[in-house]
Amino acid sequence: KDQLFGAFEESAAPAASGGTATVGTRTRRIESADALEEALITCDVGVAATDRIVESVRRKARRGDDLLPLVREEILSILQGAAPPPVTGAHPRVVLIVGVNGTGKTTSIGKLANLLKQEGQKPLVCAADTFRAAAVEQLEIWTRRADVGFVRAQPNSDPAAVVFDAIQSAKARQLDPVLVDTAGRLHTRVNLMKELDKIKRVAAREVEGAPHEVLLVLDATVGQNGVAQAREFMKVSGVNGIILTKLDGTAKGGVAVAIAQDLRLPIRYVGTGEQIDDLVPFNPREYVDALFE
Ligand code: GDP
Repeated sequence: KDQLFGAFEESAAPAASGGTATVGTRTRRIESADALEEALITCDVGVAATDRIVESVRRKARRGDDLLPLVREEILSILQGAAPPPVTGAHPRVVLIVGVNGTGKTTSIGKLANLLKQEGQKPLVCAADTFRAAAVEQLEIWTRRADVGFVRAQPNSDPAAVVFDAIQSAKARQLDPVLVDTAGRLHTRVNLMKELDKIKRVAAREVEGAPHEVLLVLDATVGQNGVAQAREFMKVSGVNGIILTKLDGTAKGGVAVAIAQDLRLPIRYVGTGEQIDDLVPFNPREYVDALFE
């Protein structure tokens, strides 16, 4: 946790000697808007969210106030403002997972299946990324480890047909939700859009309101580039939530705030390592506490 937000401490510390902010062993204070702005930018909160936070804090603070409680409150309101889609009564729930290769998509699906299983659900993982044979193998290994259902495509088959099979299988075996791994990259955006559209049409025909969630996997270590990547995916796939991976590998965990502020998307889960248990539901309050520990 300390590692996540080391950057925040670093930026606050030099200011301390200048008298604008003090970092004690037990209590930290931020007393100027400049120190606050620098700290937020340094931990990758992003320009838009930083502006909003600084402006709001400036309005509320009186001279000499410690700004930290106000910052906390503002960040919490940004994170809680982006709400996940409501849970419907439809079964099985269909969740598409999208994202660029290398972000941790395969691993995250395995971890998510494991987490949901531990919560008492009976997930089925569907490998609809038919282009990466190695990723399908990897996914199958994860699902065996998590002891959850798995449906894979025949080589070169239509991804939408695999999704159809998976939903039929889930209905027959009473598995829920269906987690669908989709292609991370096609030759063109148009192709990717067509493929995702077809998957969505098939899912919608089989289960009312499907897909119920479209989760985009983003790598926290790429920082603000992740926000740009998310924008691209939002254009093609109707993303309505984020899995933020590799939060253990960055001192700039503030990107979660940028995502919530700029894209109005809720962070649903965060990846904190390479093991199967290293994915947890995102908890805004714990996150904010860690940010200022
Ligand atoms: P994909 O190409 O997007 O499917 O990516 P993979 O799931 O194969 O993951 C790429 C690499 O990132 C692997 O070495 C994973 O172990 C690693 N990885 C994924 N999620 C996390 C995470 O939350 N933390 C860390 N440290 N590594 C992760």
